[in-house]
Amino acid sequence: MKTIFGPINSRRFGRSLGVDLSPDSKQCNFDCLYCELKPAKVVDRQSSVLPVSQIVADIQAALSEYKDIDVLTITANGEPTLYPHLSELMDAINQIKGSIKTLILSNASTIAQKETQEALLKFDSVKLSLDCATSKCFRKLDRPSKSVSLQAIKEGMLAFKKIFNGELIIEILIVNDLNDNLEEIEELNQFLLTLQPDRIDIGTIDRPPAYNIQPVNYEKLRELSLGFDASLPIVITAKAPKEGLKYNYSKEDLLQTLARRPLTKEDIELLFTQEAKEWLQELLEQGAVVEVPSSNTIFYRTKEK
Ligand code: SF4
Repeated sequence: MKTIFGPINSRRFGRSLGVDLSPDSKQCNFDCLYCELKPAKVVDRQSSVLPVSQIVADIQAALSEYKDIDVLTITANGEPTLYPHLSELMDAINQIKGSIKTLILSNASTIAQKETQEALLKFDSVKLSLDCATSKCFRKLDRPSKSVSLQAIKEGMLAFKKIFNGELIIEILIVNDLNDNLEEIEELNQFLLTLQPDRIDIGTIDRPPAYNIQPVNYEKLRELSLGFDASLPIVITAKAPKEGLKYNYSKEDLLQTLARRPLTKEDIELLFTQEAKEWLQELLEQGAVVEVPSSNTIFYRTKEK
C-alpha cells in the first residue's frame, strides 16, 4: 500500500485516509519556499506514473483494514493534478468508496485546463492554494514552472466555481516578509469576493520549510484577516495562541469585531475569555448575532440589517 498514508484525524473532515499519487519522488510544477518536501526541479508532467489499478488496489486494501474512514484525501509528493489519469482514477474511486467523501489538495496550477476541471468535478471537496494575487509575489513565493500563469489560475478558478456543485476551499499560506502585507491581502480580497469560495483557510508555516523563511505569528494572521471583506468565510488555521492572548471583549467590542469579520467556533474557543463567551451567548439569544454554517464550519456574524 505504498500510496496510502494515515488515517489521521482532521478537525474539519473527520477521519482521513491519504492517497499519494507520487509516492516515489517529488513531482511538482512549483518549488514553494515553504514546501515541507526537499527542493526539487520543477516539472510540468509526471515522469513516474502509477497505474490506476495499483492505486485502486491500495485504496481497497486500506478500506478493508480501516472501517471508519470519513474522507479520502488525494494528494501527492508534489502536485496531484499532474497525475495524468486523475479523472479515470476518480471514476474508479467513486465506484468503490460508498458514503466516504473525497477531497483533493492542489496548488491550482492546472485549474484552467479542461481535463483538470473534469477530474475535479468528481470530488466532493476541492481545496486550492492561492498564496498571492500578484504575479510578482506568486513567482517569488511559489516559484512555479514557466508554463504556469497566475492569470490563468485565477480565470480557471472562476470558471471551475461556476460548474462545481461541491465544496470549494481556498488555502492561503502567509510567509513573513513575502505576502504578509495589506496590499497583497487587498488584491486577494478583491479576487476572492468575485470567486466566492465556501471557505478560505489562512495559515502559516508549521513544519520545517525547504528554504530559509519565517512564519508569521497568530496576531499577524488576525490582523491580516481583518483586511478581508467581512462577508468572506475566513478561517485562521494556525496553532492556538498562548493563554495570555485571550480577549475579554465587551458586548459592544464583540458586535464591532463580528461586523468586521465573522469568527469561527474555534476562534472563539481560542480567543475569548469565559466572560466574552457569555456575552456572545447573550447576543445569540437576542438575535443580534447569528450562527452561519459553511463548509463544515460554524461562523458567528452580526445579523444582517
Ligand atoms: S505545491 Fe506543494 S508540493 Fe509543490 S512545491 Fe509547493 S508546497 Fe511543495
